[in-house]
Amino acid sequence: MNSLLLVNRQHPCPVDTAQDLMPVHKRYPHILLKQEAAGALGRIMEQLDGWQFLVPVSGWRSHAEQKKIYEDSLRDNGPVFTAQFVALPGYSEHQTGLAIDLGLLQPEIDFICPTFSDAKICQRFRDLAPAYGFVERYPAGKEHITGIAHEPWHFRYVGVPHAEEMARRGLTLEEYLA
Ligand SMILES: [Zn+2]
Repeated sequence: MNSLLLVNRQHPCPVDTAQDLMPVHKRYPHILLKQEAAGALGRIMEQLDGWQFLVPVSGWRSHAEQKKIYEDSLRDNGPVFTAQFVALPGYSEHQTGLAIDLGLLQPEIDFICPTFSDAKICQRFRDLAPAYGFVERYPAGKEHITGIAHEPWHFRYVGVPHAEEMARRGLTLEEYLA
């Protein structure tokens, strides 16, 4: 799959993406990514000893899973919150298998908005990510471009050198591809 695949409010996930998936870690057999992305994430975590402190909250989602998450959020959180943080079924980057939500390992983990701060292990992950092909996909100040609220926990695999160039130039995937 093209690691630069653009999925957002205007661009639905175009293909059936259920192939070549693998667990991000043996402790989390239900959190899957495309093999290339899972491998890269594993190398970052190895470098940081990251699985001691961070938990993978959501990886690849089928269309049916995204539909359920969307409908549950509408019911539990209402339309305003849902529009900010949950993509319509068919339009979630999680359906590509190239996106991962990470949270700090703590007793209570919010499934939609996990804690991922700008300090310590979280920031060390964020700083190291581009060298391994991951970018923070929904930064603050770019909401008008991405159509998604600031999500410090959501990382997207775009591959190297794209991630490094996007980070260096401060570009979202939309801007990078424009
Ligand atoms: Zn996400």
